[in-house]
Amino acid sequence: MKRIFLSFAFLMLLCGIAAAQRLPESAVPENYQISFAPDFQKDNFAGEETIQVRVLKPTSQIVLNSAEINFEETTVLSGGTTQKANVALDKEKEMATLSVEKELQPGLAEIHIKYTGALNDELRGLYLGRDKQARKYAVTQFEATDARRAFPSFDEPAYKATFDISVVADRDMAVISNAKIISDTPGPVAEKHTVKFATTAKMSSYLVALAVGHFEYVEGEADGIPIRVWGPPGTKESGTYALEVSKWCMKYFDQYFGIKYPFEKLDMIGLPDFSAGAMENTGFITYRQAELQLDEKVASVELHQLVATVIAHEMAHQWFGDLVTMRWWDDIWLNEGFATWMESKAVGAWKPEWHFEVADAEATAGSLNYDSLNNTRPIHQAAETPAQIQELFDGIAYDKTASVLRMLESYLGPEVFRLGVNQYLKEHAYGNSTAGDFWKTLAAVSKKPVDEVMPTFVNQPGTPMVSVHSQCSGNASAVILSQTRYFYDRALFEAGSKELWQIPVCVKQSAGAGKSGEKCVLLTKKSETFEMTGCGSWVMANAGARGYYRTGYSSDAVRAMGRSIEKGLDPAERVVVLNDSWASVRVGEQQIGDFLALAEGVQSDRTRAVLSQVTLKLDYIATYLVSEADRAGYQQWVRRLLTPTAKELGWRPQPGESDETKSLRARVLYTLGYAGQDPEVIDSARRLTEAALVDPTSIDSTVAFTAFSLAAQNGDAALYDKLQTRMQGSGTSLENYYLYFQTLSKFSNPKLLERTLEYAISPAVRSQDTLGMIAAVMKNPAGGKLAWQFVQSHWSDIDKIGGGFTSAEVVGATNVYCDASMHDQVQEFFTEHKVPTAQRTLKQALESIHTCTDLKARQTPELSQWLQRRGAASGK
Ligand SMILES: [Zn+2]
Repeated sequence: MKRIFLSFAFLMLLCGIAAAQRLPESAVPENYQISFAPDFQKDNFAGEETIQVRVLKPTSQIVLNSAEINFEETTVLSGGTTQKANVALDKEKEMATLSVEKELQPGLAEIHIKYTGALNDELRGLYLGRDKQARKYAVTQFEATDARRAFPSFDEPAYKATFDISVVADRDMAVISNAKIISDTPGPVAEKHTVKFATTAKMSSYLVALAVGHFEYVEGEADGIPIRVWGPPGTKESGTYALEVSKWCMKYFDQYFGIKYPFEKLDMIGLPDFSAGAMENTGFITYRQAELQLDEKVASVELHQLVATVIAHEMAHQWFGDLVTMRWWDDIWLNEGFATWMESKAVGAWKPEWHFEVADAEATAGSLNYDSLNNTRPIHQAAETPAQIQELFDGIAYDKTASVLRMLESYLGPEVFRLGVNQYLKEHAYGNSTAGDFWKTLAAVSKKPVDEVMPTFVNQPGTPMVSVHSQCSGNASAVILSQTRYFYDRALFEAGSKELWQIPVCVKQSAGAGKSGEKCVLLTKKSETFEMTGCGSWVMANAGARGYYRTGYSSDAVRAMGRSIEKGLDPAERVVVLNDSWASVRVGEQQIGDFLALAEGVQSDRTRAVLSQVTLKLDYIATYLVSEADRAGYQQWVRRLLTPTAKELGWRPQPGESDETKSLRARVLYTLGYAGQDPEVIDSARRLTEAALVDPTSIDSTVAFTAFSLAAQNGDAALYDKLQTRMQGSGTSLENYYLYFQTLSKFSNPKLLERTLEYAISPAVRSQDTLGMIAAVMKNPAGGKLAWQFVQSHWSDIDKIGGGFTSAEVVGATNVYCDASMHDQVQEFFTEHKVPTAQRTLKQALESIHTCTDLKARQTPELSQWLQRRGAASGK
């Protein structure tokens, strides 16, 4: 599954202990025959299924998962006798116990169930959606525990079986499922047709999928596998980019995994209503429409990258997740981390000009930030209830795991790692596996202690910080590396913690040393000394930027590094040093001035990722750390820093300009307009936005969101009205719809933000988008308090729209606050209004508020002094 990206939301986190909620091991399924008949007049469906099971021991009861299903007729055939079964439902555990009079004996049996269910509007199970023209469709979303809402089943990942699906649908509706269509015949009544699908491969229930509605497609083929990209009527042309990406990925993965795509065909569909980002159902991947379809002429660089990486992610799952599946949800990281790791690997190979090797370092920096909370969790985490399982789909399962896999790949070497992965997939194809299986195979293939390294990263929470000191004697250096757990919480960081990691560390020395100045070691103790030839003015402790740890340096070393940062370090390493320097500021190991001096050191850098590290922190400082007395001085410093770059880039792309430059422009201009409050930039943003509202093609799409955001921050009701009118216009493209939509949360005027909040919960906004909009107002410094009032006074509406799945997004977004009173208010409110899927999320948000408050108290005066010194030095 792919989390939501459109709102830039940090979604889902979690926990609490609950009773085990697993099926007893009395029978296992081998095959399901299921017939679905959706009724779009009554918004419900009829189902009929026959489950072939193997009974494992004498029993008179079989337990299945089932939720919101009405059982009409249930029988069990065994030993030539058909018995009526009595069905007892346990709503809380989402189970149905089928009891028969005569005990079933070990061996084959058949469960036959006729039932009905509702086409719900909760975006889970088999649910109802509507396209732009209000035509209804039915579609499934099962991961993690919602297949049981569409058919009674052994709804746990280890119960793999084959599926024979058939559907009775309106005659003009398309029907798509996991397998190929084997027959499509009129009937059984007038105006209907019956579509039968081939038997699927052996797979888990959460990967079954079905869509019924008015859809059209473009098609192609790669490595002999037919591929179709579907969307609502009138949108098929927007699927051509996705088709191109998926053809590349098919060939790339066939080669990489050493196993040909294991299913007969691939369908992909963009859906107007979809809760996650995308879902890797076997042979039939479902997406949010905006994460699959795009108009190449008007889509931004970021959107092209997003769509490509989401497709790569879901297709990688066809091997890693679908062909080989984790035994239980506690190892969901094997699925999600691997697919996330593979996104940049595959797309980076397709578009080297996107420099994903540098973006990887940014992604690792992001994971480290997320993992620096005391309330983080280990990658491997027990989970029993649906709410706990849901909360596992977080930044740890996805991003941290991907970062750790990148480190492992680098430690073993890419080819050895690939061979290990191939071996592992072959050993467990069409079956299930655990974390232990994965690293045992990798250890055997690589002959390196993967089974000792990986558990320290998978079973322990948090991130290590590797501090480096070097002593020169003659023509050699003694490099002392020491490790400790890093916490944003200064008190915890200073107190130290008991974790010990086995860390593959690569170090490099300052200039002159060349490749001989690099060395890779395995740090297994709290502190170890390694010899290096040559001496330098600094040693950088994450050479190649593939390590999952922070690095710590003395202030002298940071200053020396800063002086030669562009010459001495490659772009990914610069990203690491900037992010690690900021982390040191957060715990008082460095002062904010040390970071700002580093920022000055990279001002002539034109690498997007490097300047992103700087500019995002400058925005953060503007939002949280600058006192009102210092604001003008800070803005002036930001303008001095960024104006030369901005002048060079301008607002309009040069002919033949790279995507990297387009993205850089958007980032730098935003910070200049926001943190720097540059009047010229703000004025240009306003003019360009006004023009783009008349003619959307008048602005480069990659810089459009920057212009619109700055225009809104400084905009009035007239602009707001124009945006809303354009957004609702029938000819508006999906890309522009979301551009206008996201801009509505960027205004500064409270009256306008109040309108945005009211709009978010109105029926005009799709439920999939509601919480993202509320969270975006919360993240807007001008709307933070307002949004909080709104959330409290409209909680029942918000919770109802979001449901158990996504109301966690609003809990997570409270991490933007930065004062003690908000900490207490958030804690009090969500203690009273519990969100079961956001128990850990709440603790993390509270911790973030606390550490930000502490940072502000310490670094605001430091910033003030540094600005005064800089002002004096520059004669201001
Ligand atoms: Zn996924």
